Amino acid sequence: MQDTYKTKGMRAALISNLREKGIRDERVLEAMGKVPRHFFLDSAFVNQAYQDIAFNIGEGQTISQPYTVAYQTSLLDVQVGDKILEIGTGSGYQSSVLIALGATLYTIEYNRKLYEKARALLLKMNYKGNFIHGDGSQGFLSAAPYNRILVTAGAPQAPQALLDQLKENGKLVIPIGDLKSQVMCSLTKLANGEIKKEVHEQFVFVPLLGKHGWKL
Ligand code: SAM
Repeated sequence: MQDTYKTKGMRAALISNLREKGIRDERVLEAMGKVPRHFFLDSAFVNQAYQDIAFNIGEGQTISQPYTVAYQTSLLDVQVGDKILEIGTGSGYQSSVLIALGATLYTIEYNRKLYEKARALLLKMNYKGNFIHGDGSQGFLSAAPYNRILVTAGAPQAPQALLDQLKENGKLVIPIGDLKSQVMCSLTKLANGEIKKEVHEQFVFVPLLGKHGWKL
């Protein structure tokens, strides 16, 4: 695994592209500028790693498009030291961006092969997180409550279990819709326990599976 002048240059160009597409959060862009995205794809696909596209990572799953990662991470508004639960580790790329932002990360993946691969890769890269194999639609109660919860798969609704595992003023970012497309939602748990919902752009994600996801 090498991060050469060429890959650093391609990454800088990708970050400029994201800025041009409207990503304004400089902390997020800086974190994405640090993480070598080509480490998360097969070595034959170095060039594709720095295009603004989602890409197949095996097991019928994808590494999210960089724009989507930047968009979701910006909405999450991560503060250094935040305890974050990510649902859908996938390749581990989004996990690395959250760790680079100074989060204490818990990340849960349903697919065992992807969980094992991502955990091994992040260990090798010295990105420290807590990797869990299981159904993230139910959250991860043992480490709750969380400052932030990020769902990186399309959900039919916001699972109550996830809202229950948020701290006061905590935020859940989750794409909600049908199997064809979803809108990005940001749900904040107010001090009185009420949930404030904001609706953002439309995206297309692979489905959230499990107890509170799609039964496919
Ligand atoms: N953020 C990832 C990345 O940077 O590579 C991409 C995530 S991919 C779009 C969605 C992931 O969610 C897939 O790896 C899928 O296996 C996982 N997933 C789906 N349902 C899940 C569930 N109930 N719990 C945990 N992971 C789930």
